[in-house]
Amino acid sequence: MGKYKVSFPHLGSYFVPLEILFTEGLDVEYIMPPTITKRTLELGSRYSPDYVCAPFKYTLGNFIETIEAGANTLVQTGGGCRLDYYGELQGQIIKDLDYNVRFVNLVKTKSSLLITLYNGFKEINPDMSLKKIAKILPVALKMVEYMDTFEDYIRKNAGFEKHPGALKEIHHEFLNELRTVRTKKELNNTYQRYMKRVKGVEVEKPKNPLKVGIIGEYYTIMEPFSNHYIERELAQMGIVVDRWMNVSNSIIHNSKNKMKEHIKNYAEYNMGATSMATINKALEFAKKNYDGIIHVKSSGCTPEIDTMPVLQNISADYKIPVLYFSFDSQTSDIGIQTRLEAFYDMIMMRKEAKN
Ligand code: SF4
Repeated sequence: MGKYKVSFPHLGSYFVPLEILFTEGLDVEYIMPPTITKRTLELGSRYSPDYVCAPFKYTLGNFIETIEAGANTLVQTGGGCRLDYYGELQGQIIKDLDYNVRFVNLVKTKSSLLITLYNGFKEINPDMSLKKIAKILPVALKMVEYMDTFEDYIRKNAGFEKHPGALKEIHHEFLNELRTVRTKKELNNTYQRYMKRVKGVEVEKPKNPLKVGIIGEYYTIMEPFSNHYIERELAQMGIVVDRWMNVSNSIIHNSKNKMKEHIKNYAEYNMGATSMATINKALEFAKKNYDGIIHVKSSGCTPEIDTMPVLQNISADYKIPVLYFSFDSQTSDIGIQTRLEAFYDMIMMRKEAKN
């Protein structure tokens, strides 16, 4: 193991493929980013400019936590909005705080994804072996896809388990076993085995359950702490939760042209970051007669603020309710719970009136 102790901010369950990529492909030690907690947000908020969006605060707080856990190399990426500048600013803040670490910013140069990754990998470990990366990268990417499919199944069924918690437990075991996987064959076997287990969990789903689509900003939607575990809350209310936004859909299976064509009556231009995907999925959920849509974002997220008038139009045209959540470091759980309960009552009454 080399001298580099590398980490990347926590985002959902993606620390698993990242661990494999860093240790097996880049031959560096991977410092597992601590799970996001209130402390992460407090740390990040303390050293962040007040006006930045919440993902900046979460990732900064998490960087500090990974330094405390032993990391000496931090990796940051970008995302089609001001996130592209965050690496520079966070690197400077960490330097001003006198932490002696390397900061690898993957968006320092605007090149193709492959060149950006190559340059970033080279900076993380100058002695890296392309052969090792070429061997493990397809495994890590496929793992992301499998994890996303697995979690999608859980979101749609967790609200109907006969024995609540069974799916969560299998998910936990699945992630632990994925951490031991090193080849595509092992990966496929593990995935098939766990998919079979998860589909074997008894669910009692009504014929026509309430269905809610979740749309919104990348980080807020994928890091459950930052959206106050909204998907878990919805599942506990007995709702099918559908969410397209994840790493494999947004990076591997994302067709901007198809989205543009699909939403052309609602938005002519791409407003940046996740805005096109947000509108595209809202329209799809509306056309599929979902009972409601929940839009999540960080407060101050310009691309997602821009989608809101468009979502209002979709809501009016298709008569589908949209609930808007804007999270910041001050948001309280109680306020969210109250609004979710009111939303649930409303979509349930609408459904009953329609039947
Ligand atoms: S998409 Fe929005 S919340 Fe996310 S980093 Fe960009 S501006 Fe911030």
